[in-house]
Amino acid sequence: MTAPPAGPPVDLRSDTVTRPDARMRDAMARAEVGDDVLDGDPTMRALEAEVAGLLGTADALWVPTGSMGNLIALCVHLERGDRFLVPDRAHLLDLEVGTASWLAGGMPQALPWSAGPGTPSPADLERALIRGGPYFALRDRLLCLENTHNAAGGTVTTPVQHRSLVDAAHDAGLLVHLDGARLWNAAVALDVPPADLAEGADTIQVCLSKGLGAPVGSVLAGSTDFVREARRLRKMLGGGVRQGGVLAAAGLVALERVDRLAVDHHHARLLADALAERGWKVDPPQTNIVMVPADDPPGTVASLAERGVLAVPTGTGVRMVTHCDVSRLDIERAVASFPQPS
Ligand SMILES: *Cc1c(COP(=O)(O)O)cnc(C)c1O
Repeated sequence: MTAPPAGPPVDLRSDTVTRPDARMRDAMARAEVGDDVLDGDPTMRALEAEVAGLLGTADALWVPTGSMGNLIALCVHLERGDRFLVPDRAHLLDLEVGTASWLAGGMPQALPWSAGPGTPSPADLERALIRGGPYFALRDRLLCLENTHNAAGGTVTTPVQHRSLVDAAHDAGLLVHLDGARLWNAAVALDVPPADLAEGADTIQVCLSKGLGAPVGSVLAGSTDFVREARRLRKMLGGGVRQGGVLAAAGLVALERVDRLAVDHHHARLLADALAERGWKVDPPQTNIVMVPADDPPGTVASLAERGVLAVPTGTGVRMVTHCDVSRLDIERAVASFPQPS
């Protein structure tokens, strides 16, 4: 018999489960707004300018979701018959319903991770390129990167690795799109400005609705010409919103909270270290994602849920993600709820 869980569950399924707190809701309620489809919304504009500044791009565009941001970027960059190269198990390869192919028209090519978990090397890119094929060969057009790499376990690509991949892609005549859903986590883990991890990328997508705690919103950044085109595509996809300032206000509050991601990273390490001490073979987390290899992932997740700890089974183990609504006490409860490793 397990004791009934005390209090609400510890939700470690994702850093998307956060709820806007009082300060964020207050900012939303007070937001100055306009019609962003007609002639602009001042709070939207403020958020877009802020993100463009943080990433070092000329302009930026709010989008409702990271998936839409990635899709718009690929629609701008790709034509039918083009190919994009992307780290294996990338979100836009596996978890965006294949829209990169069937809407943006690109044929995907997964790249191995020779430079570390989630990170290809320039040589991986070189080897994959189709060079000098016949006129009916696919045309390599775009390199996509993902920092942090979600499926690899929130792993970071360093500025040096990033720059070497961007240079290799540009040398080969490719554009570069960076899926930076958790770029903030990478920047905090590496203690570098986000712009250092975006340098040279033609377009960048960042999420506000993950560890930063906004209820909705991503931002797609790039050149002025790119953003003009992206705005048309956003409307085409049904993502143009009117008084979006109510949502952008949450994003502006979220951006004030980048530094506190260090707390989430600390909590992830505490969780991993404590589980390692109990005999679980857990990889040390680089950011806020903890992957615990397990023989029976669904069984382990079910037994955790009985004790009020929510996690997600993967093919090879249990995945847990720390975020701003998880306390140190919650981490201790999660550790205590783990069964003995088999
Ligand atoms: C969550 C995520 C996305 C998509 O964001 P949504 O807002 O859920 O559409 C894209 N890329 C990565 C790496 C993500 O983790």
